[in-house]
Amino acid sequence: MSANPFESALHQLKRVNAVRAFNADLLARLSVPEREVRVSIPVKMDGGSIHVFEGYRVQHSSVRGPYKGGIRFHENANIDEVRALAFWMTLKCAVANLPMGGGKGGVVADPKKLSKTELERLSRGFVERLYPVLGPTVDVPAPDVNTTPEIMAWMSDEYAKLTGDTSGAAFTGKPLSHGGSEGRSLATGMGGYFVFEALKQEASLPASASVLIQGMGNVGGNAAKIFESHGHRIIAISDSHGGVCNEKGLNIAEVEAYKKEHATLKGFPGGKNISNAELLELPCDVLIPSALEHQITKANAARINAKMVLELANGPTTPEADDMLFERGIVVVPDILANAGGVIVSTFEWEHNLKGEHWTEQIVFEKLQKILSQQAEIIFKYSKDLKTDLRRGAFAVALERLDI
Ligand code: NAD
Repeated sequence: MSANPFESALHQLKRVNAVRAFNADLLARLSVPEREVRVSIPVKMDGGSIHVFEGYRVQHSSVRGPYKGGIRFHENANIDEVRALAFWMTLKCAVANLPMGGGKGGVVADPKKLSKTELERLSRGFVERLYPVLGPTVDVPAPDVNTTPEIMAWMSDEYAKLTGDTSGAAFTGKPLSHGGSEGRSLATGMGGYFVFEALKQEASLPASASVLIQGMGNVGGNAAKIFESHGHRIIAISDSHGGVCNEKGLNIAEVEAYKKEHATLKGFPGGKNISNAELLELPCDVLIPSALEHQITKANAARINAKMVLELANGPTTPEADDMLFERGIVVVPDILANAGGVIVSTFEWEHNLKGEHWTEQIVFEKLQKILSQQAEIIFKYSKDLKTDLRRGAFAVALERLDI
Protein backbone atom coordinates (compact mmCIF):
# COMPACT_ATOMS: atom_id res chain seq x y z
CA MET A 1 0.00 0.00 0.00
CA SER A 2 1.40 3.38 -0.98
CA ALA A 3 1.65 6.32 1.39
CA ASN A 4 -1.02 8.10 -0.66
CA PRO A 5 -3.99 8.67 1.72
CA PHE A 6 -6.48 8.89 -1.16
CA GLU A 7 -5.44 5.41 -2.34
CA SER A 8 -5.99 4.20 1.24
CA ALA A 9 -9.45 5.79 1.16
CA LEU A 10 -10.33 4.03 -2.13
CA HIS A 11 -8.98 0.77 -0.72
CA GLN A 12 -11.34 1.19 2.25
CA LEU A 13 -14.25 1.43 -0.22
CA LYS A 14 -13.20 -1.87 -1.84
CA ARG A 15 -12.78 -3.42 1.59
CA VAL A 16 -16.38 -2.68 2.58
CA ASN A 17 -17.72 -3.67 -0.83
CA ALA A 18 -16.18 -7.12 -0.29
CA VAL A 19 -18.47 -7.76 2.70
CA ARG A 20 -21.61 -5.94 1.48
CA ALA A 21 -21.90 -5.28 -2.24
CA PHE A 22 -22.94 -1.74 -3.14
CA ASN A 23 -24.26 -0.21 -6.33
CA ALA A 24 -21.30 0.15 -8.75
CA ASP A 25 -22.54 3.59 -9.87
CA LEU A 26 -22.43 4.85 -6.30
CA LEU A 27 -18.88 3.59 -5.82
CA ALA A 28 -17.76 5.10 -9.14
CA ARG A 29 -19.25 8.46 -8.16
CA LEU A 30 -17.59 8.47 -4.74
CA SER A 31 -14.20 7.47 -6.18
CA VAL A 32 -13.77 10.92 -7.78
CA PRO A 33 -14.31 14.34 -6.15
CA GLU A 34 -16.98 16.54 -7.76
CA ARG A 35 -14.64 19.54 -7.94
CA GLU A 36 -11.03 20.38 -7.07
CA VAL A 37 -9.71 23.91 -7.00
CA ARG A 38 -6.02 24.70 -6.80
CA VAL A 39 -5.02 28.31 -6.06
CA SER A 40 -1.88 30.38 -5.65
CA ILE A 41 -2.01 32.92 -2.84
CA PRO A 42 0.47 35.81 -3.01
CA VAL A 43 1.18 37.13 0.49
CA LYS A 44 3.12 40.26 1.31
CA MET A 45 5.64 39.22 3.96
CA ASP A 46 6.65 41.55 6.81
CA GLY A 47 10.01 42.24 5.12
CA GLY A 48 8.20 43.60 2.03
CA SER A 49 8.73 40.65 -0.35
CA ILE A 50 5.90 38.54 -1.83
CA HIS A 51 5.69 34.82 -1.09
CA VAL A 52 3.28 32.75 -3.20
CA PHE A 53 1.60 29.93 -1.23
CA GLU A 54 -0.21 27.00 -2.82
CA GLY A 55 -3.73 26.13 -1.63
CA TYR A 56 -6.46 23.60 -2.41
CA ARG A 57 -10.16 23.09 -1.83
CA VAL A 58 -11.55 19.68 -2.74
CA GLN A 59 -15.35 19.39 -2.92
CA HIS A 60 -15.93 15.68 -2.81
CA SER A 61 -19.69 15.16 -2.62
CA SER A 62 -22.75 17.41 -2.29
CA VAL A 63 -25.27 14.58 -2.42
CA ARG A 64 -26.44 15.21 1.16
CA GLY A 65 -25.93 19.00 1.32
CA PRO A 66 -23.29 21.77 1.14
CA TYR A 67 -19.67 20.59 1.23
CA LYS A 68 -18.32 20.67 4.80
CA GLY A 69 -14.78 20.18 6.06
CA GLY A 70 -11.74 21.81 7.59
CA ILE A 71 -8.82 23.74 6.17
CA ARG A 72 -5.34 22.50 7.07
CA PHE A 73 -2.20 24.66 7.09
CA HIS A 74 0.79 22.32 6.91
CA GLU A 75 4.15 22.31 5.17
CA ASN A 76 3.41 18.82 3.77
CA ALA A 77 -0.19 19.51 2.69
CA ASN A 78 -0.82 18.12 -0.79
CA ILE A 79 -3.73 17.42 -3.11
CA ASP A 80 -3.86 13.64 -2.43
CA GLU A 81 -4.10 14.24 1.31
CA VAL A 82 -6.81 16.91 0.89
CA ARG A 83 -8.72 14.63 -1.52
CA ALA A 84 -8.65 11.79 1.03
CA LEU A 85 -9.75 14.10 3.85
CA ALA A 86 -12.62 15.42 1.69
CA PHE A 87 -13.71 11.85 0.90
CA TRP A 88 -13.73 10.95 4.63
CA MET A 89 -15.82 14.08 5.32
CA THR A 90 -18.50 12.84 2.92
CA LEU A 91 -18.62 9.51 4.76
CA LYS A 92 -18.43 11.18 8.20
CA CYS A 93 -21.35 13.55 7.55
CA ALA A 94 -23.39 10.55 6.37
CA VAL A 95 -22.41 8.54 9.48
CA ALA A 96 -23.58 11.45 11.66
CA ASN A 97 -26.70 11.78 9.45
CA LEU A 98 -26.03 15.49 8.87
CA PRO A 99 -27.48 17.49 5.96
CA MET A 100 -23.93 18.08 4.72
CA GLY A 101 -21.58 16.79 2.04
CA GLY A 102 -17.81 16.42 2.18
CA GLY A 103 -15.03 18.88 1.41
CA LYS A 104 -11.58 19.80 2.68
CA GLY A 105 -8.96 22.50 2.17
CA GLY A 106 -5.22 22.74 2.52
CA VAL A 107 -2.49 25.33 2.29
CA VAL A 108 1.18 24.42 1.96
CA ALA A 109 2.57 26.52 4.80
CA ASP A 110 4.16 26.12 8.20
CA PRO A 111 2.32 28.67 10.38
CA LYS A 112 5.09 28.47 13.01
CA LYS A 113 7.35 30.27 10.52
CA LEU A 114 4.85 33.11 9.88
CA SER A 115 4.21 36.22 11.93
CA LYS A 116 0.64 36.87 13.04
CA THR A 117 0.14 39.52 10.37
CA GLU A 118 1.50 37.20 7.65
CA LEU A 119 -0.82 34.44 8.88
CA GLU A 120 -3.79 36.81 8.72
CA ARG A 121 -2.91 37.91 5.16
CA LEU A 122 -2.55 34.24 4.12
CA SER A 123 -5.93 33.34 5.67
CA ARG A 124 -7.68 36.26 4.01
CA GLY A 125 -5.87 35.52 0.72
CA PHE A 126 -7.18 31.94 0.75
CA VAL A 127 -10.75 33.29 0.94
CA GLU A 128 -10.13 35.96 -1.69
CA ARG A 129 -9.14 33.24 -4.16
CA LEU A 130 -11.89 30.78 -3.24
CA TYR A 131 -14.97 32.78 -2.18
CA PRO A 132 -16.86 32.22 -5.48
CA VAL A 133 -17.06 28.49 -4.65
CA LEU A 134 -17.76 28.88 -0.91
CA GLY A 135 -20.86 29.98 1.05
CA PRO A 136 -23.53 28.79 3.50
CA THR A 137 -25.42 26.78 0.87
CA VAL A 138 -22.35 25.76 -1.16
CA ASP A 139 -19.29 24.92 0.93
CA VAL A 140 -18.75 25.65 4.63
CA PRO A 141 -15.11 25.27 5.82
CA ALA A 142 -13.96 24.75 9.43
CA PRO A 143 -10.65 24.47 11.34
CA ASP A 144 -8.27 21.51 11.07
CA VAL A 145 -4.55 21.02 11.74
CA ASN A 146 -2.89 24.37 12.56
CA THR A 147 -6.00 26.45 11.91
CA THR A 148 -7.54 28.17 14.91
CA PRO A 149 -10.79 29.97 15.81
CA GLU A 150 -8.94 33.25 15.16
CA ILE A 151 -8.08 32.12 11.60
CA MET A 152 -11.74 31.19 11.07
CA ALA A 153 -12.75 34.69 12.26
CA TRP A 154 -10.39 36.30 9.69
CA MET A 155 -11.73 34.05 6.95
CA SER A 156 -15.36 34.67 7.90
CA ASP A 157 -14.73 38.43 7.99
CA GLU A 158 -13.04 38.36 4.58
CA TYR A 159 -15.96 36.38 3.14
CA ALA A 160 -18.44 38.93 4.55
CA LYS A 161 -16.45 41.83 3.03
CA LEU A 162 -16.29 40.19 -0.40
CA THR A 163 -19.89 39.00 -0.59
CA GLY A 164 -21.93 41.16 1.80
CA ASP A 165 -23.17 38.00 3.56
CA THR A 166 -22.77 38.77 7.26
CA SER A 167 -24.65 35.71 8.60
CA GLY A 168 -21.33 34.09 9.60
CA ALA A 169 -22.66 30.78 8.26
CA ALA A 170 -19.95 30.38 5.58
CA PHE A 171 -17.29 29.32 8.15
CA THR A 172 -17.57 27.37 11.40
CA GLY A 173 -15.20 26.96 14.33
CA LYS A 174 -15.27 30.72 14.85
CA PRO A 175 -14.66 32.29 18.28
CA LEU A 176 -17.78 32.89 20.39
CA SER A 177 -17.39 36.65 19.82
CA HIS A 178 -17.75 36.04 16.04
CA GLY A 179 -20.83 33.78 16.09
CA GLY A 180 -19.05 30.56 17.10
CA SER A 181 -20.79 27.74 18.94
CA GLU A 182 -20.44 26.98 22.63
CA GLY A 183 -18.34 23.84 22.98
CA ARG A 184 -16.86 23.87 19.43
CA SER A 185 -13.22 23.71 20.60
CA LEU A 186 -14.01 20.74 22.86
CA ALA A 187 -16.37 19.10 20.38
CA THR A 188 -14.08 16.58 18.66
CA GLY A 189 -12.55 15.36 21.93
CA MET A 190 -15.94 15.33 23.68
CA GLY A 191 -17.54 13.48 20.77
CA GLY A 192 -14.71 10.93 20.92
CA TYR A 193 -15.45 10.44 24.60
CA PHE A 194 -19.19 9.89 23.95
CA VAL A 195 -18.34 7.29 21.28
CA PHE A 196 -15.86 5.62 23.66
CA GLU A 197 -18.60 5.47 26.35
CA ALA A 198 -21.03 3.91 23.87
CA LEU A 199 -18.56 1.23 22.70
CA LYS A 200 -16.25 0.55 25.65
CA GLN A 201 -18.02 -2.71 26.58
CA GLU A 202 -16.89 -4.02 23.15
CA ALA A 203 -13.27 -4.03 24.28
CA SER A 204 -13.98 -5.13 27.89
CA LEU A 205 -12.25 -2.06 29.28
CA PRO A 206 -11.82 -1.40 33.01
CA ALA A 207 -13.67 1.49 34.71
CA SER A 208 -10.41 3.43 34.87
CA ALA A 209 -8.67 2.84 31.53
CA SER A 210 -5.02 3.54 30.70
CA VAL A 211 -4.86 5.86 27.69
CA LEU A 212 -2.15 6.84 25.16
CA ILE A 213 -2.63 10.03 23.14
CA GLN A 214 -0.56 10.88 20.07
CA GLY A 215 -0.81 14.64 19.42
CA MET A 216 -1.77 17.34 21.89
CA GLY A 217 -3.36 20.02 19.73
CA ASN A 218 -7.02 20.96 19.70
CA VAL A 219 -8.17 17.34 19.48
CA GLY A 220 -5.56 15.40 21.51
CA GLY A 221 -5.09 18.08 24.18
CA ASN A 222 -8.82 18.35 24.85
CA ALA A 223 -9.33 14.57 24.69
CA ALA A 224 -6.61 14.20 27.36
CA LYS A 225 -8.40 16.60 29.70
CA ILE A 226 -11.81 15.01 29.09
CA PHE A 227 -10.60 11.42 29.63
CA GLU A 228 -8.61 12.47 32.73
CA SER A 229 -11.64 14.28 34.19
CA HIS A 230 -13.68 11.08 33.80
CA GLY A 231 -11.23 9.06 35.90
CA HIS A 232 -9.02 7.55 33.18
CA ARG A 233 -5.20 7.56 33.34
CA ILE A 234 -3.31 9.30 30.52
CA ILE A 235 -0.06 7.33 30.57
CA ALA A 236 1.57 9.06 27.58
CA ILE A 237 0.99 12.07 25.33
CA SER A 238 3.07 13.66 22.56
CA ASP A 239 3.52 16.51 20.11
CA SER A 240 5.32 16.48 16.75
CA HIS A 241 8.74 16.29 18.47
CA GLY A 242 8.02 13.39 20.86
CA GLY A 243 6.20 12.57 24.05
CA VAL A 244 6.22 11.94 27.78
CA CYS A 245 5.15 8.81 29.62
CA ASN A 246 4.25 7.95 33.20
CA GLU A 247 2.59 4.60 33.89
CA LYS A 248 0.90 5.96 37.02
CA GLY A 249 -0.81 8.68 34.95
CA LEU A 250 0.31 12.15 33.85
CA ASN A 251 -1.15 15.32 35.28
CA ILE A 252 -2.35 16.92 32.03
CA ALA A 253 -2.58 20.47 33.41
CA GLU A 254 1.10 20.17 34.43
CA VAL A 255 2.09 18.78 31.01
CA GLU A 256 0.31 21.66 29.27
CA ALA A 257 1.81 24.30 31.56
CA TYR A 258 5.29 22.83 30.94
CA LYS A 259 4.82 22.82 27.17
CA LYS A 260 3.54 26.40 27.26
CA GLU A 261 6.57 27.56 29.20
CA HIS A 262 9.26 25.54 27.38
CA ALA A 263 7.64 25.04 23.92
CA THR A 264 8.62 21.36 24.18
CA LEU A 265 7.85 18.29 26.28
CA LYS A 266 11.57 17.47 26.59
CA GLY A 267 12.69 17.50 30.21
CA PHE A 268 9.15 17.36 31.68
CA PRO A 269 9.84 16.36 35.30
CA GLY A 270 6.65 14.29 35.81
CA GLY A 271 7.47 11.56 33.25
CA LYS A 272 10.00 9.91 30.96
CA ASN A 273 10.62 11.25 27.42
CA ILE A 274 9.72 8.87 24.58
CA SER A 275 9.48 9.08 20.78
CA ASN A 276 6.18 9.09 18.88
CA ALA A 277 6.98 5.60 17.55
CA GLU A 278 7.53 4.30 21.09
CA LEU A 279 4.31 5.88 22.32
CA LEU A 280 2.19 3.97 19.81
CA GLU A 281 3.54 0.62 21.01
CA LEU A 282 3.21 1.03 24.79
CA PRO A 283 0.79 -1.37 26.54
CA CYS A 284 -2.51 0.39 27.25
CA ASP A 285 -6.28 -0.02 27.20
CA VAL A 286 -7.00 2.76 24.69
CA LEU A 287 -4.72 4.25 22.03
CA ILE A 288 -5.94 7.61 20.70
CA PRO A 289 -4.11 8.82 17.56
CA SER A 290 -4.83 12.57 17.37
CA ALA A 291 -2.20 13.88 14.95
CA LEU A 292 -1.84 12.91 11.28
CA GLU A 293 -2.58 10.11 8.78
CA HIS A 294 -0.76 6.79 8.37
CA GLN A 295 0.62 6.39 11.89
CA ILE A 296 -0.44 2.74 12.34
CA THR A 297 0.86 0.77 9.35
CA LYS A 298 1.83 -2.80 8.53
CA ALA A 299 5.28 -1.92 9.96
CA ASN A 300 4.01 -1.42 13.54
CA ALA A 301 0.48 -2.92 13.67
CA ALA A 302 1.75 -6.24 15.05
CA ARG A 303 3.26 -4.37 18.01
CA ILE A 304 0.24 -2.20 18.89
CA ASN A 305 -0.53 -3.19 22.47
CA ALA A 306 -3.99 -1.64 23.00
CA LYS A 307 -7.46 -3.13 23.46
CA MET A 308 -9.09 -0.26 21.60
CA VAL A 309 -7.83 2.26 19.02
CA LEU A 310 -10.03 5.37 19.08
CA GLU A 311 -9.21 7.30 15.89
CA LEU A 312 -9.56 10.99 16.68
CA ALA A 313 -7.11 11.86 13.85
CA ASN A 314 -8.27 11.36 10.28
CA GLY A 315 -6.86 8.32 8.51
CA PRO A 316 -4.28 7.25 11.14
CA THR A 317 -4.57 3.52 10.28
CA THR A 318 -3.73 2.11 6.84
CA PRO A 319 -6.03 -0.61 5.40
CA GLU A 320 -3.33 -3.31 5.84
CA ALA A 321 -2.90 -2.33 9.48
CA ASP A 322 -6.69 -2.38 9.87
CA ASP A 323 -6.78 -6.04 8.80
CA MET A 324 -3.91 -6.91 11.15
CA LEU A 325 -5.59 -5.21 14.14
CA PHE A 326 -8.96 -6.85 13.34
CA GLU A 327 -7.32 -10.30 13.23
CA ARG A 328 -5.75 -9.61 16.62
CA GLY A 329 -9.14 -8.67 18.14
CA ILE A 330 -8.22 -5.01 18.70
CA VAL A 331 -11.33 -2.83 18.43
CA VAL A 332 -10.66 0.04 16.02
CA VAL A 333 -13.25 2.82 16.35
CA PRO A 334 -12.98 4.49 12.93
CA ASP A 335 -12.31 8.20 12.42
CA ILE A 336 -15.57 8.77 10.54
CA LEU A 337 -17.42 7.92 13.77
CA ALA A 338 -14.88 8.65 16.53
CA ASN A 339 -14.02 12.22 15.48
CA ALA A 340 -17.41 13.23 14.05
CA GLY A 341 -18.05 15.49 17.08
CA GLY A 342 -16.22 18.36 15.36
CA VAL A 343 -18.38 18.41 12.25
CA ILE A 344 -21.57 17.81 14.23
CA VAL A 345 -21.01 20.89 16.41
CA SER A 346 -19.84 22.82 13.32
CA THR A 347 -23.17 21.98 11.74
CA PHE A 348 -24.97 23.24 14.87
CA GLU A 349 -22.98 26.49 14.48
CA TRP A 350 -23.95 26.79 10.79
CA GLU A 351 -27.59 26.15 11.71
CA HIS A 352 -27.75 28.70 14.51
CA ASN A 353 -25.91 31.32 12.40
CA LEU A 354 -28.55 30.87 9.69
CA LYS A 355 -31.39 31.13 12.22
CA GLY A 356 -29.79 33.90 14.31
CA GLU A 357 -29.85 31.69 17.44
CA HIS A 358 -27.29 30.78 20.10
CA TRP A 359 -27.37 27.47 22.00
CA THR A 360 -25.93 26.82 25.48
CA GLU A 361 -23.03 24.39 25.94
CA GLN A 362 -25.36 22.04 27.80
CA ILE A 363 -27.77 21.87 24.84
CA VAL A 364 -24.87 21.47 22.38
CA PHE A 365 -23.35 18.53 24.28
CA GLU A 366 -26.73 16.88 24.96
CA LYS A 367 -27.53 16.95 21.24
CA LEU A 368 -23.99 15.78 20.41
CA GLN A 369 -24.17 12.82 22.79
CA LYS A 370 -27.59 11.79 21.51
CA ILE A 371 -26.43 11.73 17.87
CA LEU A 372 -23.16 9.93 18.56
CA SER A 373 -24.49 7.26 20.92
CA GLN A 374 -27.36 6.51 18.50
CA GLN A 375 -25.03 6.25 15.51
CA ALA A 376 -22.41 4.23 17.44
CA GLU A 377 -25.15 1.73 18.33
CA ILE A 378 -26.38 1.50 14.72
CA ILE A 379 -22.82 0.96 13.45
CA PHE A 380 -22.00 -1.56 16.17
CA LYS A 381 -25.09 -3.61 15.29
CA TYR A 382 -24.41 -3.34 11.54
CA SER A 383 -20.82 -4.55 11.93
CA LYS A 384 -21.97 -7.48 14.12
CA ASP A 385 -24.58 -8.47 11.52
CA LEU A 386 -21.93 -8.34 8.78
CA LYS A 387 -19.43 -10.14 11.09
CA THR A 388 -16.92 -7.42 10.32
CA ASP A 389 -15.08 -4.53 11.95
CA LEU A 390 -16.52 -1.15 12.95
CA ARG A 391 -14.86 0.65 10.00
CA ARG A 392 -16.60 -1.54 7.44
CA GLY A 393 -19.81 -1.22 9.49
CA ALA A 394 -19.51 2.58 9.51
CA PHE A 395 -18.72 2.71 5.78
CA ALA A 396 -21.71 0.47 5.02
CA VAL A 397 -24.08 2.69 7.04
CA ALA A 398 -22.69 5.81 5.30
CA LEU A 399 -22.86 4.29 1.81
CA GLU A 400 -26.53 3.37 2.30
CA ARG A 401 -27.24 6.99 3.26
CA LEU A 402 -25.31 8.26 0.21
CA ASP A 403 -27.09 6.01 -2.28
CA ILE A 404 -29.67 8.63 -3.30
P1 NAD B 1 -3.70 20.74 15.79
O1 NAD B 1 -2.89 21.46 14.81
O2 NAD B 1 -4.45 21.51 16.82
O3 NAD B 1 -2.79 19.66 16.59
C1 NAD B 1 -2.03 18.67 15.96
C2 NAD B 1 -1.15 18.01 17.01
O4 NAD B 1 -0.44 16.92 16.41
C3 NAD B 1 -0.07 18.94 17.59
O5 NAD B 1 0.09 18.65 18.97
C4 NAD B 1 1.18 18.54 16.82
O6 NAD B 1 2.37 18.82 17.56
C5 NAD B 1 0.95 17.05 16.71
N1 NAD B 1 1.69 16.42 15.62
C6 NAD B 1 1.93 16.89 14.38
N2 NAD B 1 2.68 16.00 13.69
C7 NAD B 1 2.87 14.95 14.50
C8 NAD B 1 3.56 13.72 14.38
N3 NAD B 1 4.20 13.39 13.26
N4 NAD B 1 3.56 12.88 15.44
C9 NAD B 1 2.92 13.22 16.58
N5 NAD B 1 2.25 14.36 16.76
C10 NAD B 1 2.25 15.20 15.74
O7 NAD B 1 -4.71 19.81 14.95
P2 NAD B 1 -6.07 19.17 15.43
O8 NAD B 1 -7.17 20.07 15.02
O9 NAD B 1 -5.94 18.73 16.83
O10 NAD B 1 -6.16 17.89 14.46
C11 NAD B 1 -5.53 16.65 14.77
C12 NAD B 1 -6.17 15.54 13.95
O11 NAD B 1 -7.57 15.50 14.25
C13 NAD B 1 -6.05 15.69 12.45
O12 NAD B 1 -5.98 14.41 11.87
C14 NAD B 1 -7.38 16.34 12.07
O13 NAD B 1 -7.71 16.13 10.72
C15 NAD B 1 -8.29 15.59 13.02
N6 NAD B 1 -9.57 16.24 13.28
C16 NAD B 1 -9.63 17.52 13.73
C17 NAD B 1 -10.88 18.08 14.01
C18 NAD B 1 -11.02 19.45 14.61
O14 NAD B 1 -12.14 19.82 14.95
N7 NAD B 1 -9.96 20.23 14.78
C19 NAD B 1 -12.06 17.35 13.78
C20 NAD B 1 -11.95 16.03 13.32
C21 NAD B 1 -10.70 15.49 13.08
